[in-house]
Amino acid sequence: MSTELQELLDSNKHWAAETEAREPGFFSRLLKQQTPQYLWIGCADSRVPANELVNLLPGELFVHRNVANVVVHSDLNCLSVMQFAVDALKVKHIIVVGHSNCGGVRAALLDMRTGLVDNWLRHVQDVRNHHHEWLDSIDANQRVNALCELNVLEQARNACQTTVVQDAWARGQEVVVHGWVYGLHNGLLEDLRITVAAADQLAAAFQKALSAVKARYERARISSAD
Ligand SMILES: [Zn+2]
Repeated sequence: MSTELQELLDSNKHWAAETEAREPGFFSRLLKQQTPQYLWIGCADSRVPANELVNLLPGELFVHRNVANVVVHSDLNCLSVMQFAVDALKVKHIIVVGHSNCGGVRAALLDMRTGLVDNWLRHVQDVRNHHHEWLDSIDANQRVNALCELNVLEQARNACQTTVVQDAWARGQEVVVHGWVYGLHNGLLEDLRITVAAADQLAAAFQKALSAVKARYERARISSAD
């Protein structure tokens, strides 16, 4: 085996021993059950590791990641994760997490051709096309990050519109959908304040969060023009 891979296995042994020493019985407790409160739907980017960013241990965060944190109504992978998280694990929060300078979002914005993933990124291009007039109106060097945030809002809205979440709300189950963005430059998560706890809150929450994102980029454009 290559030295690099052996290092990973060695490091895993060290981590498991350290964790068990710090919290005796940690793994045997997890074996019996997992009770995460949160479902994280994030980008596959290696710089955005879900558990580490929010300092949660194994068993505390249910995670689905794909390129550019997309929630597609026909993606059985994402929908299956959501269904298990909501129906079986009864997570209380679903957090769609984008990040600044996302390579997938950049490729979608600029029509970059990279291969099979181009087809997946069509979903982000739909977001771009939907908001293209506004995106064209802001500084070119702000557009990637602005589209990262618009994408979070649109994907959070998609999450709200899945049968999984709609059915949970219809039966009175407590599930709140959120949209966050992670700053690669400072390591901080920001709440974009699309916070939806019931079907009838979605339209207003989306519009409010969208206006807030737009206002922030418009202010940045005005102050940079001063
Ligand atoms: Zn990304």
